Amino acid sequence: MHKTRLYIAGAFVAPQAQGYFPAIDPATEAPFAEVAAGQAADIDRAVRAAREAFDTGIWSELSGTSRAAMLRLVAQGLRARLAEIAALEVRDNGKPLPEAEWDVGDAAFAFDYYADLAEARDSDPEEPVDVGDARFAATIRREPLGVVAAITPWNFPLLMAVWKVAPALAAGCTIVLKPSELCSLSCEVLAQIIHAAGIPPGVFNLVTGTGPEAGQPLADHPLIDKVAFTGSVATGRKVMMAAAAGIRTVALELGGKSPFVIFADCDLDKAVEWILFGIFWNKGEVCSATSRVLVERSLYPALLARLQQATEAIPIGAGSMPGVKLGPIVSQGQYDKICAAIAAGKASGARLVTGGDRPEGLTRGYFLRPTIFADVPTDSALWREEIFGPVVCVNPFDTEAEAVAEANDSAYGLAGAVMSDDLQRCERVARKLRAGIIWVNCSQPTFTQLPWGGVKASGIGRELGRAGFEAYFETKQITRFDSRQTWGWYLGRDA
Ligand code: NDP
Repeated sequence: MHKTRLYIAGAFVAPQAQGYFPAIDPATEAPFAEVAAGQAADIDRAVRAAREAFDTGIWSELSGTSRAAMLRLVAQGLRARLAEIAALEVRDNGKPLPEAEWDVGDAAFAFDYYADLAEARDSDPEEPVDVGDARFAATIRREPLGVVAAITPWNFPLLMAVWKVAPALAAGCTIVLKPSELCSLSCEVLAQIIHAAGIPPGVFNLVTGTGPEAGQPLADHPLIDKVAFTGSVATGRKVMMAAAAGIRTVALELGGKSPFVIFADCDLDKAVEWILFGIFWNKGEVCSATSRVLVERSLYPALLARLQQATEAIPIGAGSMPGVKLGPIVSQGQYDKICAAIAAGKASGARLVTGGDRPEGLTRGYFLRPTIFADVPTDSALWREEIFGPVVCVNPFDTEAEAVAEANDSAYGLAGAVMSDDLQRCERVARKLRAGIIWVNCSQPTFTQLPWGGVKASGIGRELGRAGFEAYFETKQITRFDSRQTWGWYLGRDA
């Protein structure tokens, strides 16, 4: 069985304590690899390697063009090994193969995209600023902010890592990546590709391991300059507290309970298609999943009937099987959490329309039928809390104002979607929804060029797009006094 290795200071190494834990295939419940259990000592070595690599300038002081050349090699490496990585991701996470292939393609594109931005920065390193006094020449420089700790989740194991690694490396930062213990394998391949691309030792480091044993020491490490985290609110809070203790920059991407507002004038089949994609792609293990659907009352009965029919027709099975659109839940723990949320939902008085149990014939693996609840009490956990699985809540509304108020009545604010044939209404609602990402007449399409992140409990900061590049820089002003001039405050002009 394959035993993974850590990647520290340019070398693939075993964890110091020689500990391993199994990687489990969620479709079979069988272990298929042994994952290196890095601990505080490994984290310390990795952070020191990243610190040294940053401080010596072997990466940060290269031109953007030189960094870009290596990042493009990483993109090529990902494309060359796309089939292998996608198959690994399916085995580790359970997602359908075509979705895993999208992830790897997007990851490769992100390296190319940030390579372009790194290169462009070379021609624009400093911005001159007129300070209104001719004796001064001032500029603003953007400099790589230093050593980044990236802590990432299991739902898009490679892609969530790349959303941090690609812009951080493009900016000139060095990085220590700690992926989720549930899905670490594709990040080991990423390390191999980065190594083969010739990125200098210490610039990128990978330490796999559990949250408490590897994640927490990484978040706590005093030599880190920024922690970039994606995951749950509870863990995000711990990471933020660790960052607060060290007065370090923190970026948090924490998920949500995103609304999808459907008006009665839209095409029923198109609405159903996007509702399905909004909640069931990637098994609903998606931070931006539109898990609360609000439907204008006149369309509500017809929409529920069509949605039920389409949901019951979704092919369920191992992600590697052709035609499957819903794979197994990532782990026994997540499966149990979702089942508990469904049980609590039933007890809350919500109406279970379909799903909520194991599909017939799939006795092994963490399989769950896609689940629809209707008429959900809006004060229930089912309506308000993130489930992170294939469970959608559908409620009716009467007026646009009511829909917007209900959509915004959430602790979260990551995403939102609106669907109507009246585009002016779509624009109005898009502006009123309090979230970082809004989709009009669709839900979920995600582009590397656009900023990604939320408001309220959905997090702090933005990834992707230009904002996701700028997030790895510090701003420095350089103010130059003309030495031919005299300041003359203490010594006087004639002194
Ligand atoms: P976590 O927030 O616990 O995990 C995210 C990352 O943080 C993982 O790498 C995890 O490691 C790590 N971690 C865990 N504890 C610590 C710690 N004390 N210090 C530093 N890092 C830590 O999410 P879970 O995987 O447990 O999922 C729980 C819930 O979080 C889900 O049900 C879902 O609601 C939400 N979630 C949201 C995501 C999003 O994209 N916004 C993604 C994943 C989950 P390890 O996995 O090894 O424990």
